[in-house]
Amino acid sequence: MESFKVETRDINIDALLAYDREHIWHPYTSTTQPLPVYAVERAEGCSIFLTDGRRLVDGMSSWWAAIHGYNHPVLNQAMKSQVEKMSHIMFGGLTHQPAVALAQKLVDLTPASLQKVFFCDSGSVAVEVAMKMALQYWASREMTGKKKFATIRSGYHGDTWHAMSVCDPVTGMHHVFKGSLAIHHFADQPQVRFGQEWDEGDISSLKTIFETQHHELAAVILEPIVQGAGGMWFYAPQYLQALRQLCDAYGVLLIADEIATGFGRTGRLFACEHAGISPDIMCLGKAITGGYMSFAATLATNHVGDTISNGYPGVFMHGPTFMGNPLACAVANASVDLLINSPWQAKVKHIEARLRQGLAPCQAIEHVTDVRCLGAIGVVELSRPVDMGAIQKLFVEKGVWVRPFGRLVYLMPPFIITDEELDALSTAVCEVVAEIDKI
Ligand SMILES: *Cc1c(COP(=O)(O)O)cnc(C)c1O
Repeated sequence: MESFKVETRDINIDALLAYDREHIWHPYTSTTQPLPVYAVERAEGCSIFLTDGRRLVDGMSSWWAAIHGYNHPVLNQAMKSQVEKMSHIMFGGLTHQPAVALAQKLVDLTPASLQKVFFCDSGSVAVEVAMKMALQYWASREMTGKKKFATIRSGYHGDTWHAMSVCDPVTGMHHVFKGSLAIHHFADQPQVRFGQEWDEGDISSLKTIFETQHHELAAVILEPIVQGAGGMWFYAPQYLQALRQLCDAYGVLLIADEIATGFGRTGRLFACEHAGISPDIMCLGKAITGGYMSFAATLATNHVGDTISNGYPGVFMHGPTFMGNPLACAVANASVDLLINSPWQAKVKHIEARLRQGLAPCQAIEHVTDVRCLGAIGVVELSRPVDMGAIQKLFVEKGVWVRPFGRLVYLMPPFIITDEELDALSTAVCEVVAEIDKI
């Protein structure tokens, strides 16, 4: 232990970064022209400590996940206790208390009709599993023509094969993998904003798909209320209510991808609650372990589970090696308990109000086209894409960790953030967005 500490202290940061640059792929990066990466020593609460000694206030929650901040003593302890018992055990033919406890929490907290839990390795896998469930459901009912999916534009559902096929066809990866991806149906992105007066016409594009394609539609998949990586867009709950009615009327399953929105981020525990609807299948991930481990779950109704099981081959055809990983279940149990036993609703409401106030000055900046906040999410939309390398550097120099994409600069901090830290984030966003015209 002691010698390891000495080694890390003596580590040559330049050598580390050089090796990284030469050999390691980061998300969506080039091997020949990678953007710079910053080496992290440790993280605690809402602080990220770089190896060069700088402290950054975290505005990203490591992509929606670290809702309780980093290095949380309760979450650390949950993992330490579980490690002493078993880090992993196969889930075929075996079960354990952390998995059962977590399933019970998820069944209790999500809409009442969701009763069956399938544990997955990551969000993208949870989406694959949801899509497979929908296909097996219709196959079991011997309606084999129902093999297509419909979704709304500007969605994001993950990077694996079929998840990718329902991501936005323009900003997603369709062009790169053209010819190999399954063709699905894309409705217009909802235009009526969250909080705006509802207009039935908003769902007409999706309604047309139901009317003309329902015989081949297995399911509609979408992110409820908040579209995340596809555009950070907040739409009206009435859209989901109208969609639920269409799904019922035409016999199409509804898959709610709550991987980003789940566990309080939008101000409700799950975004479906804004609309009071129950999906047939729900995907959870990201914040499920408080950002400690890659883990996810796909929930389904008894009807979906039982229909699959009553058909051929009588079982649901999926079972990953690390299914129900005890370490992930243990930390997920601790994270969910921490959340529901905290005044998270008041906290998220407070973050929303403070972000609204803190980001308001951006509205006056010429190349800002929109500023919007919902729950613990604040978004500044620009008229043109940012230069990622340049803007990232500016944020780091101002002592914050904010990672924009495309035309979007956004904040989704851990729920435990202090007002001081939150204001530091908002101020940095306003300053950097004002400055980027000059770079
Ligand atoms: C992040 C995300 C996914 C994919 O999750 P991974 O854990 O990255 O595979 C799927 N759907 C939504 C809505 C997401 O935000």
